[in-house]
Amino acid sequence: MAKQSKDLKCSFCGSGKQESMMLIAGIDAHICEKCIQQASTIITEETSAKNNANLNASIKLAKPKDIKAHLDQYVIGQDEAKKILAVAVYNHYKRLAQKSSADEVEIEKSNMIMIGETGTGKTLLARTIAKTLQVPFCIVDATVLTEAGYVGEDVESILTRLLQAADYNVAAAERGIVYIDEIDKVARKSDNPSITRDVSGEGVQQALLKILEGTMVNVPPQGGRKHPDQKMIAINTSNILFICGGAFDGIDKKIARRMQTQAIGYAIEKEQIAFDKENLLKYVTPQDLKSFGLIPELIGRLPVLTHLNPLDQTTLRAILTEPKNSLVKQYQKLFEYEQIDLSFDSDVLDFVVEKAMTYKLGARGLRSILEAIMIDAMFDLPSEKNVKTLNIDLDYALEKFNKSEITKMKVA
Ligand code: ADP
Repeated sequence: MAKQSKDLKCSFCGSGKQESMMLIAGIDAHICEKCIQQASTIITEETSAKNNANLNASIKLAKPKDIKAHLDQYVIGQDEAKKILAVAVYNHYKRLAQKSSADEVEIEKSNMIMIGETGTGKTLLARTIAKTLQVPFCIVDATVLTEAGYVGEDVESILTRLLQAADYNVAAAERGIVYIDEIDKVARKSDNPSITRDVSGEGVQQALLKILEGTMVNVPPQGGRKHPDQKMIAINTSNILFICGGAFDGIDKKIARRMQTQAIGYAIEKEQIAFDKENLLKYVTPQDLKSFGLIPELIGRLPVLTHLNPLDQTTLRAILTEPKNSLVKQYQKLFEYEQIDLSFDSDVLDFVVEKAMTYKLGARGLRSILEAIMIDAMFDLPSEKNVKTLNIDLDYALEKFNKSEITKMKVA
């Protein structure tokens, strides 16, 4: 016989209909809303503990040498930056492992700053390292950030991006990597305190301090100010690795000045110091960042400092063919879909490099130059049935390059 509605009870906690707001019926049992909520909390806690354990297990695998070997497959040269990055990341994740034990020696965060001309591989390094570790990764541009309350994006928006990259998995986002590009653009405008507030310069640096160090931040999951009534998500930033990058145009002069002063000091001892004037960035110190306009507190929170070398002819040539997804391999793949075997004469690749150097286009220019050479073939050949091979020789490359827009660029 069916039970009277007032006799129904939650099969888990025994509460009767009167004590609970809702009783949901199953085949042979009932559950109240309080037990549903409790069960949901247990599931969330269990899965996030499992996620954390999985994250730890996958991270433990990568030793600095393995990390560097992986970077070598995608990034040419920049050995010192790769080594420093591999160690910083490895130490960072060792620090995460330490969190659980009550150890007295607390390892500090190894946030990092990379200095190098544009197009030398800073973003590529950060992106590749995130792929190696399979952690959420996002890139933000420091130039769009402003101090809270001013036109532009709040610093918290960085964490919204990371949360989105982690598919809203908070535990994963809390171990992610953030690459902040163009950090040099938030340098203090001048040493003199001015009447107007420096909301996109020093103001941003001040705002970054807290999240770089590690704190709980309430993050709007949909980003910014367009959705004022969204529910905030709390994110702990203490295990997020921040990598900053910038070209720091003109810092070489500051470095040279500092080195010369030192050199004069040494000269008194009749000791000649030879330094590489072509690549002064390799001597960069935190002091130079300070004279460029980063505030000491921010520099202090980016303890690992490294530089990227300018790309010379040999490196550019290697970038064309050697990385796992090099430009040449990418074009060959595109033509493979048409069943066409694509090859380049070696002097064509030398020509591409030479033009990239002439127009001072760096590694990004390699792509534009190759695109100018390949565009007609990519347009015509998919409609041709009988072409099975395509070899690009220097005559063909010259003809296509000479009618391209690039030739109208001023030689830098
Ligand atoms: P940056 O962040 O320093 O301005 P990127 O990392 O965005 O420069 O580099 C631009 C592009 O140039 C990359 O997508 C990559 O194809 C290429 N590139 C730059 N440096 C290297 C390098 N050292 N090895 C391989 N490719 C590189």
